[in-house]
Amino acid sequence: MCGVVGIIGPEEAAKEVFLGLFTLQHRGQDAAGILSYNEGEGPGFHLYKDNGLVESVFNEEIVNRLPGRMAIGHTRYSTVGKSGDTRDIQPLVLNYPYGIGMAHNGNLVNYYPLVEKLRRERHRMPLTNSDLEVIQNLFADALLEAGGGIDEKLSFAQLETAVNSVMKSAIGGYSVVSMIAGQGMFAFRDPKGIRPLILGKREAMVRDATGALVKKDAYCVTSEMVLLNFLGYEPIGDLQAGELIFVDLEGKLERKVLPLAQTPTPCMFEWVYFAGAESVLEGKPVYNARLELGKGLARKIRSHIDRGEMKPDIVVPVPETSRIAAIALAEELGLPYREVLIKNRYIQRSFILNTPEKRAKAVDLKLNPVRSEIEGKNVLLVDDSIVRGTTSKRLVDLVRRAGAKEVYFVSTCAPIRNPCYYGIDFPSTEELIATGRDEKQIAEALNADQVIYLDQERLREAIGLKSLCMACLDGKYPTDISAGLSFRERRVGERRK
Ligand code: SF4
Repeated sequence: MCGVVGIIGPEEAAKEVFLGLFTLQHRGQDAAGILSYNEGEGPGFHLYKDNGLVESVFNEEIVNRLPGRMAIGHTRYSTVGKSGDTRDIQPLVLNYPYGIGMAHNGNLVNYYPLVEKLRRERHRMPLTNSDLEVIQNLFADALLEAGGGIDEKLSFAQLETAVNSVMKSAIGGYSVVSMIAGQGMFAFRDPKGIRPLILGKREAMVRDATGALVKKDAYCVTSEMVLLNFLGYEPIGDLQAGELIFVDLEGKLERKVLPLAQTPTPCMFEWVYFAGAESVLEGKPVYNARLELGKGLARKIRSHIDRGEMKPDIVVPVPETSRIAAIALAEELGLPYREVLIKNRYIQRSFILNTPEKRAKAVDLKLNPVRSEIEGKNVLLVDDSIVRGTTSKRLVDLVRRAGAKEVYFVSTCAPIRNPCYYGIDFPSTEELIATGRDEKQIAEALNADQVIYLDQERLREAIGLKSLCMACLDGKYPTDISAGLSFRERRVGERRK
């Protein structure tokens, strides 16, 4: 999972991108990058990227070296390639044709077959482990074939042909934001709309050729609405599945849903865990979905309480994501809500850390229990999900060590039993704790007195969309995944070397 943003129109687009990236930090904490493009004398790209959080990668002096009215940015969460490998940090730049800068969020299922195809048919050698490089090369080749010259204005039809060609080859979940030197900014979503992308607009004051200040439309396309709100862009709406948008350097917007678009299946995990609580995806507020997840789970827990199988005294959220659901759950059950796992805010989110060792260490460092509130109580721990179980087991142990009598672990996501091929790090079936285990066996593995999950149907109802990707829960993948096995073994394996 990653965060992307593209801005065209304002005088200092890179400054806005820089500020905006802070609101996308939760989507990726491994690396960050900004690419800007300036027109006028000596036009060209200006790139800065490095490993680390946005605030450690950039400062004012660096951002000032990224001029122009068009810029794209990225926060990286590495699901493939080696974490820390600077070659894989986005945006990526290609010098031909025109000059193409690109960033994306997602994964390709058929990365290896496509790399092989590019090697054999186009004699292109990959310089990174990134899916984006494949998308960028496919696009560049298709754009060349679509015609046009370096001094000509690129038409929307040419762009459409090129992106259509990418969609024909690239299987997976991907949201792409890109700039073409001397032409403008474009963005597109995969044909199933698995990864999010939203468009916004505002008026910007810019200098015309005479130096006078004039009003112009500025556009921003990004992973989440929270960024639009933060920078003062009025949301126009989500890009649809398979949709392409293009904004030229004069600020003219064109958009079209391409023929390969299908029934959208956005990733349910955005509402459950990934997206910021203040965002709205596909018209469905994340905050509200999390409240409903909590209420739905409370109804299931109520039946366990009524049967005398558990007797919770307090509801305790696992910070941060599950807090909203836990409040609703506690209200629904009429139980005291207690924030008694105190977070050290300087440690990164544990799921997003990319090795089990780093995750284990993070749990120990980042949460301190309030013993006086836990001792002698039956604690209902609420988390957004249980993936490998590493974090969950450590949490149960932590609460037990603080004197809890019984510990119940409940998850607002249904059991995750299948890998994700679309950009979330659920690496292999064997590593997922729910694979081949029922709730009782999972409780044993976690050393919990009970484990309760929200059901798939209630999860769907809580989000409020009929069509969603829930493949990691139900195994029904929205795309062909026949190239997926080599993806798992080779790509994730590479990352762990
Ligand atoms: S498999 Fe799961 S995590 Fe991956 S895109 Fe689908 S719902 Fe999201």
